Amino acid sequence: MNILQRRKINENISMSNLAQKLNELEKKIKTFTPDPKYPHDPFIKITLEKSIAAAKEGNYGVGAILVDKNGKIVLKGHNKLFKPYSRSDLHAEMDLLNQFEDKFKGEKSLKDFTLYVPFDPCPMCLCRLIFVGISRVYFPIFDTDGGGVQILNKLPLAWKKMAKNCKFELVPCSLELKKIADFLLNKTWPEDQDLWRKIFNF
Ligand SMILES: [Zn+2]
Repeated sequence: MNILQRRKINENISMSNLAQKLNELEKKIKTFTPDPKYPHDPFIKITLEKSIAAAKEGNYGVGAILVDKNGKIVLKGHNKLFKPYSRSDLHAEMDLLNQFEDKFKGEKSLKDFTLYVPFDPCPMCLCRLIFVGISRVYFPIFDTDGGGVQILNKLPLAWKKMAKNCKFELVPCSLELKKIADFLLNKTWPEDQDLWRKIFNF
């Protein structure tokens, strides 16, 4: 499914219905109890909370969190593609990496950190994540049409070598969380974006 088809699917959801659905999902995720069978559930839960907050702002519904080797969440980022104004670079992963670099100013590497996102990063974010040498990127579902994981084996040689240090992995989690990630992927592209409407010829 490409971005145009996603937009078509979105036509079934008006902005007010989307706002209502996001409120429902927000409640659902707040009361969700992580299943001990799935150790990634607590992190995916927080990633989805942040993703829903991004969608409620009028951005694409993607959040990202950064977890250190002791399991502590050190940073959270979210998509800022549309609000407060159009920024083509500010995907959730980029927002988080910008925060990390501004905070640590080159004194800390991303080795030994894990980043969680609702679905696999796009090619732009995938390349930056490889370039910064992050150890692991975990997600509960694949973005089969837009996700970057499928280009890993088509990267230029030097990038393939760098990518060996970075594990992009689909991780098991509760079905309820997967369903929310799927909604965010397919239904939260906002309808009221004239610039993007022109770019993609909606
Ligand atoms: Zn991206």
